[in-house]
Amino acid sequence: MKVWSIPMRTRFRGITVREGALVEGPAGWGEWSPFLEYPPEVAEPWLRCAEEAAAGDWPEPLRDEVPVNVTVPAVGPEDAHRITLAGDCRTAKVKVAEPGQTLADDAARLEAVRDALGPDGHVRIDANGLWDVDTAVATIRALDRAVGGLEYVEQPCATVEELALVRRRVDVRIAADESIRRAADPYRVRDLAAADVAVLKVQPLGGVRACLRIAEDIGLPVVVSSALESSLGIAAGVALAAALPELPHACGLATVQLLTDDLVAEPLLPVAGALPVRRPAVDQAALDRLAADPARVAHWEQRLRDVRGVRQDRTP
Ligand SMILES: [Mg+2]
Repeated sequence: MKVWSIPMRTRFRGITVREGALVEGPAGWGEWSPFLEYPPEVAEPWLRCAEEAAAGDWPEPLRDEVPVNVTVPAVGPEDAHRITLAGDCRTAKVKVAEPGQTLADDAARLEAVRDALGPDGHVRIDANGLWDVDTAVATIRALDRAVGGLEYVEQPCATVEELALVRRRVDVRIAADESIRRAADPYRVRDLAAADVAVLKVQPLGGVRACLRIAEDIGLPVVVSSALESSLGIAAGVALAAALPELPHACGLATVQLLTDDLVAEPLLPVAGALPVRRPAVDQAALDRLAADPARVAHWEQRLRDVRGVRQDRTP
């Protein structure tokens, strides 16, 4: 196992350094990077994803590139316009519902993004579960008008039940993101008819093939999203997006720019709004440069033992 540590460009999800491990198998290294606060039973499917990558057990790709979105944080309209243009994507995901900001702030940001994308671009918004049902309904209607049509709204409210209520009251499609964290969650979203789109991440859901099965079972369009991985981990998300029979929406896999460095020599960065479908190799010089200190290595070795302990407990 190799343990690495990469500073983030800006604070994201409350962290300033992304830390993870690589596990080795016949096909090379697989990324295992569950967030530090996750207990062993939550980190276990993340390890399955790494082991699948290391075993080289990915399905055949059906396409050679994967369209991705540029992400626009809760910034003012001028910054939003600049970020959208610089992203060079046909789809923008715009953060809304930021505490301390108003509907007018969100509307101004969306209008700037629309201006930068042009009328053919797709604009989706992400509320990260921060609205209640009534606020979601009123705000989605207003923002849909402001931007001349939203592609979808990601996680308008916190719970699956609330998503289902909002979905019945607005014409805009609803996507479930935070509501899908463990393998059973997508089925609950389906059973409550709570979303039109499922956001899937390969590590928390146990790997590429596990996600492919989920996508088939739930019968919803899938948007593959990252968990802030290095390009090695992103490659697993790309493998899923490349293997899905249908890919009607751009994916949230253009995130290696959030890291200051990478474990590969040729990072998985978007070109003209798409990621190439390829599996980058680990760069030994990068591994040396980004190697975590011995205390962190010991921590991850203990995590690995703990996850294996969880597996043993499950074996009858
Ligand atoms: Mg989201």
